[in-house]
Amino acid sequence: MAAVMVRETVAGDVVAEALRRVWGFESLRPLQREVVDAALSGRDAVVVMPTGGGKSLCFQLPAVVENRLTVVVSPLIALMKDQVDALRVVGVSAAALNSSLEAEEEDEVRRLVASGGLQLLYVSPERLLQASTLALLRRAGVARFAIDEAHCISGWGHDFRPEYRQLRRIKDEFPGVSVMGFTATATPQVQRDIAIQLGLERPRKFVGGFDRPNLTYRVVAKDDPVRRIAEAVQRYPDDGVIVYCLSRKDTERVAAALVAERIEAVAYHAGLAPDVRKRISEDFAQERVHVVVATVAFGMGIDRSNVRCVVHECLPKSMEGYQQETGRAGRDGLPSECVLLYNGSDTMRLRRLLSDGEPDFVAQNMRLLEEVQRFATSHVCRHKSLSEHFGQEYEVPEGGCGACDVCLGGTKALEESAKVVRQILVTAASLCSRLRGFGVGVLVGVLTGSRAKNILARGAEQADGFDAFHGESRDRVTAWVHRLVDHGLLEITDDEYPVVRMSADGKRAIDEGTDLVIVENTALTLVAPRRSRAGSYSVEGMDEALFEKLRQWRRKLAQERQVPAYVILHDATLMRIAAVRPSSVAGLQDIPGVGEKRSQDFGPSLVAVVQAHAEAAGVALDTAIDEAQVVRQKPEMTAKTLSYAPYFRAGRPVQDIADSAGVTANTIWQHLAVWVENERPDSLAPWVDEQIERRATEAIRKEQTDRLKPVFEELGGEVPYEVLRVVRAFVS
Ligand code: ADP
Ligand code: ZN
Repeated sequence: MAAVMVRETVAGDVVAEALRRVWGFESLRPLQREVVDAALSGRDAVVVMPTGGGKSLCFQLPAVVENRLTVVVSPLIALMKDQVDALRVVGVSAAALNSSLEAEEEDEVRRLVASGGLQLLYVSPERLLQASTLALLRRAGVARFAIDEAHCISGWGHDFRPEYRQLRRIKDEFPGVSVMGFTATATPQVQRDIAIQLGLERPRKFVGGFDRPNLTYRVVAKDDPVRRIAEAVQRYPDDGVIVYCLSRKDTERVAAALVAERIEAVAYHAGLAPDVRKRISEDFAQERVHVVVATVAFGMGIDRSNVRCVVHECLPKSMEGYQQETGRAGRDGLPSECVLLYNGSDTMRLRRLLSDGEPDFVAQNMRLLEEVQRFATSHVCRHKSLSEHFGQEYEVPEGGCGACDVCLGGTKALEESAKVVRQILVTAASLCSRLRGFGVGVLVGVLTGSRAKNILARGAEQADGFDAFHGESRDRVTAWVHRLVDHGLLEITDDEYPVVRMSADGKRAIDEGTDLVIVENTALTLVAPRRSRAGSYSVEGMDEALFEKLRQWRRKLAQERQVPAYVILHDATLMRIAAVRPSSVAGLQDIPGVGEKRSQDFGPSLVAVVQAHAEAAGVALDTAIDEAQVVRQKPEMTAKTLSYAPYFRAGRPVQDIADSAGVTANTIWQHLAVWVENERPDSLAPWVDEQIERRATEAIRKEQTDRLKPVFEELGGEVPYEVLRVVRAFVS
């Protein structure tokens, strides 16, 4: 017992030491700790960790600590190269074996393996199972196998790859060597299947939280897709954005439309020449290109860690796919956004597309599709829906998760839904009996009382319910009609000129009514555009001008070394450097995320950038920042806050607004603070006494902190917190 404990402590120290020295990280995350322990004790395991959860470290750290070979099986060559680059940057001995190597390079890697000098070898499944590779590895000795993207082995998963099935042979070829499967997306059924298919022995199972709290999810009606996408993209100038489309043609069409809006977007799909694809991936990784409009072929190999927004132009084919694709946003843990554009005709298009093949296969596809459709049309917190899909409970915090359209008040049930639904159905039925075919445009035109040519020429204005929605916008009514289509009350044919038809359910609903509640998405248009990078996410006290210079420095270096920018240093680390402004390489090494090798390699040139900036700008070096500082997100304007905005703009007193809204003054003060920070009014005069504002501002500047307690105390407790919060928002 005592011996075991001693060993564990020693192992713990060695692990912590390596983590600090090599990666510059302070501690392992709890689940990483457990997985690393299991790895070091030679166990088989299935590990499910959300994207950005830190899977790589789970197998890289043991390889470094033991200084023995870990073989990592990965399906994507681009991903291998990035990981190998990232490891070499921190001084770990790593290499990859795959079909992209020249014969000479391959020989070199094989020599490295044979010499026993390698800690991590990335290999594709095909290459691993070649007789020559197996023989080489047997001679060199393997400490463990890590199977990345392990869900690809399961036919129940969304990304089955037949070549993964062969991996079962590992257990026969290397008896007694531990095998660990890693994935970001696996339902409990897929988790079990991974263990069975890999032939794992007494596997430990580690399942991390699926929730990605730093992601804000929004589902938005796809009524004017290009405008929606442009709005989303423009919230993230100079940041990585991926727009996923269903087909190659769609990517090109959407990219062209964005370019017309002066957004530099590039289309990416499997039909492009390999060197073009490669160049786009590299441009994106090295931050020369920020917006990529792609099919799902883009992404697996790309882990630019600072992708700030992922847009789905079309419904994804499964929840697993959605989790995986949105997972590419915010891998660095900073706040990021996922926007899903949804309408019913996309579902029909997908259904048709997925209905080819074996009946079992088709049935499975349809089931997966229905799940995403249900997700998109539901009125449940998105974080909750996603977690529960993966078999995990998620308790929505009081007041909402704060990071999805549902909780932010971006969706709302239409009042008198039943009446609206019935009216649309009655009018559609009436048009059906009069015209030989009509599109959504005619139906909406009739309902909104349009006297356009296409209505009058066909006598459509004679239909029941002409102008029933007098004064409503076409957009809004179109969205209502689409909701009926989503729920199968109306159908739209899939012809060149799609035509509206009544469904059996729709006919029945006219007589019997329906419990369909139309949920309207309002979120996207309500979100104020971002003003500056620092506004949305930042480390307290960050020097924004320096951050930009550091990014330029990183871009140049990434280009020279032909590696993705994040491999050099992460955004969060650059932000901390921009906050601290270290004057020496030693000071740099203390910053989380730097580590020994990086500070040696990049230290001098980084410090030079910092010093030149400090001199030019006349700012101090080596500012102390508090360790516990977290990245603070500028509070987002929720629909609620926006509903008070007109009163704030009019300068109405807080108590007044509170009385007429029937809420407490404190609530209004909170919204006011958010509004002030976002909208930046010229003055606080309507709400805060001038003298108090001056004193509070002085105290906030003097304390130089985001914490209000010292400021409150400095002012002798005379100025209440809610007022201080508003002043701070104004000052910041
Ligand atoms: P995954 O493969 O699970 O998507 P990664 O291994 O790429 O995740 O890690 C995601 C991010 O988290 C990376 O930027 C990585 O450097 C960082 N990270 C991982 N583990 C830690 C840790 N213990 N402390 C700090 N940062 C970490
Ligand atoms: Zn929510």
